[in-house]
Amino acid sequence: MRADLDTAPATRAGLVPAMTRGFLGRCPHCGEGRIFGRFLKVRPDCESCGLGLHNHRADDLPPYVVIFLVGHLVGYVILEMETNYDVPLWFQLSFWPLFTLGLSLALLQPVKGAVVGLQYALGMGGFATLPVRPSAAVPPSEDVQRGSTDNRAHGLGPA
Ligand SMILES: [Zn+2]
Repeated sequence: MRADLDTAPATRAGLVPAMTRGFLGRCPHCGEGRIFGRFLKVRPDCESCGLGLHNHRADDLPPYVVIFLVGHLVGYVILEMETNYDVPLWFQLSFWPLFTLGLSLALLQPVKGAVVGLQYALGMGGFATLPVRPSAAVPPSEDVQRGSTDNRAHGLGPA
């Protein structure tokens, strides 16, 4: 049971705020709860606002984006160093593989968070509905009245 479920925002966050929150590992809806339980394991839902995160379909997009970014950055810098500077071969062969691996691992979680934020902002898949705040729910008294009206319509009203 979430103690502060009523803190859930009533409207969907925009694309940039949602992706920024996801990039920082925070819930794209409220910006407070954490997305990840472990390195790349997305939590079932937000601990703060109750947004269901388990329906995300990030799949292979985060690795593709990371490969695209890291490949272009590292490839460009290696080309620049080879053509304009006299860098020893031992440095090139030892530094760039480690740098590439480290940068890829460092970017993987933030990029996956941003992809989850993108899916949330576009209302894709399981993000089509927002979490319902208890204060926004229909009060019980109206449920009873509507129920009694329905019962009367079916001839089952109070005697
Ligand atoms: Zn949240």
